[in-house]
Amino acid sequence: MSEGTIFDKIIQREIPANIVYEDEFALAFEDINPQAPTHLLIIPKQRIATCNDIEKDQRELVGHLFWVAGEIARREGFAEAGYRTVMNCNDNGGQTVYHIHVHLLAGKALGWPPY
Ligand code: 5GP
Repeated sequence: MSEGTIFDKIIQREIPANIVYEDEFALAFEDINPQAPTHLLIIPKQRIATCNDIEKDQRELVGHLFWVAGEIARREGFAEAGYRTVMNCNDNGGQTVYHIHVHLLAGKALGWPPY
């Protein structure tokens, strides 16, 4: 696998981030360039470059990221109002950091489709 990304540095606390959730498998922190009143990134501590690189034995880990999204939504009180989870893949998906991440966007009614 190619070398790590800026997200590894956040996991290692080598660069700062506003971390809102952490457990053995995942980390969630505020996006540096928020696209909604709440914009968090939920990442696995184990690096997987893109959605295409998820191995069969990593399905539970990836599912965990979405459980974390719901857990944060419940804790922060926006579960009922609703929110969006997005995982971009490669160029056409708009992926810029090659360490999979779930965008969690909340705090307003979001438009659809997203273009
Ligand atoms: P992507 O475009 O790959 O789906 O999303 C990458 C996200 O990472 C972007 O929303 C971008 O703002 C965010 N991001 C990039 N670098 C950093 C950083 O150093 N810190 C934080 N907190 N977010 C970052």
